[in-house]
Amino acid sequence: MNIYEKITAIMQDVQYLAKDDKVSFGTTNYKALSEEKVTSIMRAELLKYGLVVFPIEQVANRTGSITHVDVKYRLLNVEQPDEFIDIVSCGDGADTQDKGSGKAMTYAYKYMWLRTFALPTGEDPDKISSAELDDKAAKAKKEEEPVLCEECGKPIKDAKNNSGEVWKAKDIAVYTALKFKRKLCIKCMNAAQKNDAI
Ligand SMILES: [Zn+2]
Repeated sequence: MNIYEKITAIMQDVQYLAKDDKVSFGTTNYKALSEEKVTSIMRAELLKYGLVVFPIEQVANRTGSITHVDVKYRLLNVEQPDEFIDIVSCGDGADTQDKGSGKAMTYAYKYMWLRTFALPTGEDPDKISSAELDDKAAKAKKEEEPVLCEECGKPIKDAKNNSGEVWKAKDIAVYTALKFKRKLCIKCMNAAQKNDAI
């Protein structure tokens, strides 16, 4: 079989990939197609028809918390190794840490299969990743809000201890809440300590 006959044979074998993954994120609930399912089904088909697929080119770039990758895969006919087709795919991964490129590559890989073999699923990942991102941005903003001193009402700031080490505002709040039953700034904490000594 030539490479196009093999692709058509696989399209006959695999007509549809049903979503198998349930993803819950806050109020967002959706069904998705797992990479594991796509890979295991398509892997069996590759072996059955004597095809291999591998990435030959990849470019990634990050903007904010979105990583975009462009990948070129080669689908090669094992029976006639000089016969191959190159397939371009891309993916976006939303992550504020270091998982963005991994997520983007997973999408690119998944979509390479879905597009090349015209597999219907009905999935819409863009909605999900942006919902997740909005939530992360809101959480990050919340963390930045200062903790207010319950005595003077001013925000608790980072301070340096006697050995010059930075004492984080967050830790000061936790410490004073435990020791003085309320969150205090350094000034009010020192005042409270004096009162305790008397
Ligand atoms: Zn204070």
